[in-house]
Order: sequence, then C-alpha cells, then structure tokens
Amino acid sequence: MKLKFVGLTDAGRIRANNEDAISTLEPLGLAVLADGMGGYNAGEVASAMAVEHIRQHLQPWLTARPVASRELPQAVLRGIELANQAIYEASAAHREFRGMGTTVVVAVFHGSRVLLAHAGDSRVYRLRQGQLVTLTRDHSLLQEQIDAGLISPELARHATYRNLVTRAVGVEAAVRPDLNELGTEPGDLYLLCSDGLNDMLSDEEIASVLLRTPSLEAAARALVDAANAAGGRDNISVILAQVQPDTPSTD
Ligand code: CA
Repeated sequence: MKLKFVGLTDAGRIRANNEDAISTLEPLGLAVLADGMGGYNAGEVASAMAVEHIRQHLQPWLTARPVASRELPQAVLRGIELANQAIYEASAAHREFRGMGTTVVVAVFHGSRVLLAHAGDSRVYRLRQGQLVTLTRDHSLLQEQIDAGLISPELARHATYRNLVTRAVGVEAAVRPDLNELGTEPGDLYLLCSDGLNDMLSDEEIASVLLRTPSLEAAARALVDAANAAGGRDNISVILAQVQPDTPSTD
C-alpha cells in the first residue's frame, strides 16, 4: 500500500498556546495526534510526551517488521501505555503538571489494513467514494449521554460540556484505549483530527471541504481555514492519509 500523509496544526483564533501535537512517519504508515489538557503549559507537555513516547516505541518496532504482524495491536497498546505512564509520573512529580493529560489517536497503515487506537475525543474519519464516516466513538460525557438516549445529537451540538472526556492518556495509572482494525481501499482518505476541527465544522462541512479540494496539502489547509473562519475557538489539528489509488494491495 502506498500512502501519502499531510499534517497541519494551528493554534486557532482564541488560544495563545497550541496544546495539540501531531507526528507522521509516512514510510512506516504511522500517524499520531494528541490534544492535551491541563493548566499553564501542561497540556502542551502532555500531548508532546504522548506523541513522542508512542513514536519512540513504534518506530523501531515497525521498522523491524516490514510485513504486518499479528502482534501489532499489542505493540500499539504498549506505546500508549508507555505514554500514559510517563505523563502520569511527570504529573505526580511536578506540581505545575498536576492533572495533565491528553487525548490520543494512533493510526498504523499496513498491507491493505489500518489499525486505529484512540482514547478521548479526537477522531478518525474516512472518506470513501464520496461518503464520510466517523471510525471512532468519542470517549466523552456527551457521547455517553447520546448513547443512553438522554440527549439528541442535534441538542448535543450546543452542549456546554462537550469537551469533557471520559478517557484520556496520563490522567490515571492505567488507560483503556479502543482498538479497531479495518480494511482499506485504494483511494480512501483518512482524517485524524482534534475537536478544534469537528467542534467548529459539521461532518457535512468537513466532507464538502474534502470533496472539493484536489490535493492533500490544500485539503489540510482548507480544513484549518474553515475551522478558523467558523470561530477557531480551540487548537485545530488534522492529519490526512490517502491510500494511493494506483497500488495493488499486498494481502
Ligand atoms: Ca481541543
């Protein structure tokens, strides 16, 4: 599978700091996005630590295994676990980092499949043949209330507590990410994003930007610009991953 990645992160129009962090390793098919939380600059510290620890664990692991391995899910979970432990310990050791944490989304493309792992409310979308679908379910109080039928998705768009996450990396001694492995198809476009994008833009708006923008670079820029035009109330991060249409699959 040939892949092309483009990542872009932006502070938005209101926040002075950017507490999001992204990392892509195109030759290894690895993309990581994190949206940190915590006072002072602790959110930035947490998201940077998460991305770095996951990359440090998975880069050598993936390099040593060019063909997809059955142990990949365990390796991804281990990377997130190591990030969790490092952030949790830093937060216990430094007063200014107390309570910091971060969402995380990891995507590993291998063969004709993609493994997704996430904790928190950062998302993965997939655009396939013009249809945009969400591949992750937010770990948020709001999503739990939608699932329980307590609030409609329409009302949820205006909820004031929409950013309360029920799972995060580094906040507790252990973290429980969701894992999902899916088949990819040539031409698929995957979008990893922080809530600064999907809080500002509806799924329809995201789809319409992706559908009318020809290049990946332009699409990433257009998504960030559209979120800023809609208010840019939070940091905005996007990673786009395109499965190149001309390549035969390998498994
Ligand atoms: Ca955010």
